[in-house]
Amino acid sequence: MKGYAMLKIGESGWIEKERPTCGPLDAICKPLAVAICTSDVHTLWEGAIGERHNMILGHECCAEVVEVGELVKDFKPGDRVLVPAITPDWNSLEAQAGYAMHSGGMLAGWKFSNFKDGVFSEFFHVNDADGNLALLPPNINSVDACMLSDMVPTGFHGVELADVQFGDTVLVIGIGPVGLMAVAGSNLRGASRIIAVGTRKNCVEVAKGYGAVDFVSYKNGTIEEQVLALTDGQGVDKVVIAGGSVETFESAVKCLKPGGKIGNVNYLGSGTYITIPRVEWGVGMGHKQINGGLMPGGRLRMEKLGALVAAGKLDVSPLASHVFEGWDHLEEALFMMRDKPADLIKPVVKL
Ligand code: NDP
Ligand code: ZN
Repeated sequence: MKGYAMLKIGESGWIEKERPTCGPLDAICKPLAVAICTSDVHTLWEGAIGERHNMILGHECCAEVVEVGELVKDFKPGDRVLVPAITPDWNSLEAQAGYAMHSGGMLAGWKFSNFKDGVFSEFFHVNDADGNLALLPPNINSVDACMLSDMVPTGFHGVELADVQFGDTVLVIGIGPVGLMAVAGSNLRGASRIIAVGTRKNCVEVAKGYGAVDFVSYKNGTIEEQVLALTDGQGVDKVVIAGGSVETFESAVKCLKPGGKIGNVNYLGSGTYITIPRVEWGVGMGHKQINGGLMPGGRLRMEKLGALVAAGKLDVSPLASHVFEGWDHLEEALFMMRDKPADLIKPVVKL
């Protein structure tokens, strides 16, 4: 079978590989549509998870099941499915502890294009099919379904990590597709005011539609100066970080009220340390929590978030700004994600 792979850091291309084999609990699927993620860019061009040779890229797609193992109960060939980017081993101690995304070691629930071949391929392997796949609701199209692999659950996990409550003022730093879903999730959770940080015009327009009312550009001075000015010096209750770098945490802490919480889902592709400003962190006693997490994967989350989209309570269609047809356009879509043209939110390839 053909797959589009990371040949080594900074180099990619189509390769031939053996079709994966199906264990008793597994499924083999073929993608119906795939989406490119900023994480693919971190992995391939920044080498953020280290060197990988001939590893097929991609972790966002929806798919059709082509084969299941003899112990799989709820899925059969021909089923159209939602596929989470994170596919934990549900029968693990980490899953029992409530951190399935770290099953088998830190971040090890993230298997596609990390520990095994990803989904930019004619066929791909899903471990623990009953625990990880979800049936694709019939009224969700294949492009929107791709947004349920990673963008919706990651943005929403940022909201969970920041513990957004009714009436909170929330700052969302970064309004690419992940941050946009954090804006939508904060809105659904009852935030009274959402301040968003980002400059791409398209993203700003879409963020308004999802409930952001105030906008800050990180290019026009520090985020904290602007946010404190917008909030009469009070700061915000919660911060979701979905963009920026290791330096962004300093701004986030400075923007936060005492007792506030930060939920980070940004993948820090470079830098060695995150600095926490001593004084604004209440000289160690400000009750400002900093949480960072890989999104939890799995079937239940896919089913619930899929139900939200199927019920019309969350419209993900504004995210797919560039839709291509056919594998021939995959490389173009991937390079587009690296270069981030001004009108880009998310490139998707229909198959
Ligand atoms: P994008 O690159 O599309 O968006 C990044 C956003 O951050 C943009 O709004 C950008 O602004 C803004 N930004 C850039 N630089 C700064 C800065 N210095 N300070 C503040 N904001 C800044 O990324 P995605 O939405 O696709 O992904 C966001 C992050 O989430 C990525 O790092 C990705 O790898 C990660 N991720 C994490 C997952 C998890 O499970 N935790 C899963 C999936 C993705 P501008 O409008 O100017 O471009
Ligand atoms: Zn992703």
